[in-house]
Formats: sequence, structure tokens, C-alpha cells
Amino acid sequence: MTAETTMRLETLAVHAGAATDAETGAVAPPIHLSTTFRHGPAAERIAGYEYQREGNPTQDRLETAIAALEGGAAALAYASGMAAIAGLLETLPAGARILLPDDCYSGLRYLATEFLPQRGVHAAFVDMSDLAAVRAACAQPVALLWAETPSNPLLKVSDIAALAQVAHAHGALLACDNTFATPVLQRPLALGADVVMHSTTKYFGGHSDVLGGALVFARQDALFDAVRHRRHITGGVLAPFSAWLLLRGCRSLAARMAMHCANARVLASFLAGHPAVARVNWPGLPSHPGHAVAAVQMRDFGAMLSVQLRGGREAALAAAGKLQLFTNATSLGGCESLVEHRASVEGANPVSPQDLLRISVGLEHPDDLVADWAQALDGLA
Ligand SMILES: *Cc1c(COP(=O)(O)O)cnc(C)c1O
Repeated sequence: MTAETTMRLETLAVHAGAATDAETGAVAPPIHLSTTFRHGPAAERIAGYEYQREGNPTQDRLETAIAALEGGAAALAYASGMAAIAGLLETLPAGARILLPDDCYSGLRYLATEFLPQRGVHAAFVDMSDLAAVRAACAQPVALLWAETPSNPLLKVSDIAALAQVAHAHGALLACDNTFATPVLQRPLALGADVVMHSTTKYFGGHSDVLGGALVFARQDALFDAVRHRRHITGGVLAPFSAWLLLRGCRSLAARMAMHCANARVLASFLAGHPAVARVNWPGLPSHPGHAVAAVQMRDFGAMLSVQLRGGREAALAAAGKLQLFTNATSLGGCESLVEHRASVEGANPVSPQDLLRISVGLEHPDDLVADWAQALDGLA
């Protein structure tokens, strides 16, 4: 681990948690499916493991890798991003008040409105890109602030270092959902956050074939112990095969992010110049309200963007229907490009504008991606 802390991110992505198998010399890691591990007659641990739900070697490798990539003291892997979020927020004591972004991931919104109040944890929703609003919301006692930057689907950017200062000045923790950026582009712990959360389903997995989540902690302290104990007892753990797929995803994460971002840049500038387009939401565009903050706290601007069409809902649905390389599907971060009319998937009270399509830019050739949008927008201007 000492050597790993001095390595650059690309090197960590390949080598963290990647020691060759001690028994066989295998370079690719083994998948340990065993649910139980031999112990001594008085339950003495022989190799450090007892039962899969408590901890297992494949998961350990993944947690080592994710903690190293985020520059954290320790990580916990979960069965999904939502299991990770719940694992953290359900550890807060009754009476805790938390601040969530007004445009937070929909699953977190449901958790905070339907379930957390049953435990006595109450959320207030704030625009996290508006520091004055965040400070005002901290006038009442607060236990935790949640940031999600860039956010979904308007790609709003919040200032992680400033939020950490506000949180700590009020004795609160800052947790940051780093799913869209990944540690390749943004490392919230180095900016002062206390906990980072990932839906590893997205870029870590990278191939739209594994569900997972993770929490990364700045310190291996009492909070970490409490959250780990909760995971052990409530059981939302990751399956070893999923941990193995996510480890494989880690190895190419930095390389994929570079190409995702380069493709997004090409597509965003094409869309921004198209007469059928009213607005492109991508923090890499100088016109984006979060561009300056993103330029400071991110290494590149990511590959999630959204586009708002002059022709409104009708034009958005028409374009989504004509795209051929961009599959209409939810989720993000895979090799293949995806598009989604968010308002249509948000149910009865959509928060996304009706004219908006969200795009996960994949790893195809950028000219092919641009050509697909050109034909889909043709005649909509
Ligand atoms: C997908 C997602 C989640 C939830 O993760 P799951 O793996 O689907 O449970 C949370 N936050 C963000 C930003 C996401 O994109």
C-alpha cells in the first residue's frame, strides 16, 4: 500500500489489488466463490476469513483497488449503488438532519422521502451549486451534506472543496456521489469530502453487465466500522463474480474515461452548433454555468451530457426514435452510447425538462456518433 500511494492513477488502476495469486502465480485474479472458510476448533481464523457475507478475498481485492483509486483509507463494496447509499445513510442516528441536492439521483430521493423518515432521519433538498443556499440551510443543525457532481440530468456542478468547508464548519460530514466523474476525473476526498459513493454499475463496470456500489472513506474510523458492521448484518454485499467483473473494469477505467471524454467533447461541440438544439448541458462547454468550477476540480469534463431541443418534447422524442447507434435505455458508463428521454422514465411528476435527452457517450468512433445525431436531428431545426 505504501508504494501504491505514490503511484499515478493510471498505474493504480492496473495494479491496485492486483497481486498475482500466491498459490498458483495466476496473473488474472481468482474468483473465490466459497461462502465459508475453514477455521480452527475454537473458531480461530486461519486465513483471515470466516463467512462470505462478512468479507471475502475477491471483494477485498476490489475494495483495495477502489480505495487506492479514490485515495481513501478504506472502501466497502455493495450489491448496488443504492445499497451503498442506504448503507451509509441508514447508519445515521435518529434525529439526524441531512442536506441533499435538489436534483439528486432519483433513488436517493425516494430513500430520503419514503424510508429515512421512518428511522427519524430527515432530508432537506438544496441547490448544491448555490453556496449561499447551502449555508442558509446549515443554519439548523445538520449531520451530513450530500453532493453529486456533475449532476443528473442538467450536469450541474457543485464546488466540492467549498461544500467540505461549509460542512465541516457546521460539524457535518460531506459525502459525494462520484459516479459520473469517476476517480479518473475527480477525487473528492482530496478536496475535503469524508465519504465517496459510487454506483460501480456505471463506469467501473464499464460494460453494462454488472450491478454494484461502493463507499470510500477518508478515514478508517468509528463511522467506517459502523457502516461495515451494518453491511455485515443487513447483508447487501456484492457477489464474488460481480466483484471480479468490477476489478476487470478497474483495469481499463482510466483508458476508457480518456476516450469517453474525448468523444463527448466532439459530440457536445457538434450539438452546440446545431440549429435544432436550444442548449447543450456539458460542463466542458465554456457557456456551461459550472464550467469554471469543473475546470478546477475535474481533470476532464466527463462523458455524460444532455441536450435540449428547440422543438420541445415532440422533437426530443422524434430524435430519440431516429438515433441508431444510441440505444434508448437507462443507465450509463458502458462502451455503447445510450440516449434517454428522462422525463418519460421519471413517472407522474417528472423533474427533467420535456425537451431534454440525456446522453451517455460511448466508445464508438466520434465521427459515427456525430453522423448519427446529424441524421436524427435532420429536419427538426
Ligand atoms: C445509477 C446511479 C446510482 C444508483 O446506483 P445503482 O447501482 O443503480 O443502485 C446512484 N447515483 C448515480 C449518480 C447513478 O447514476
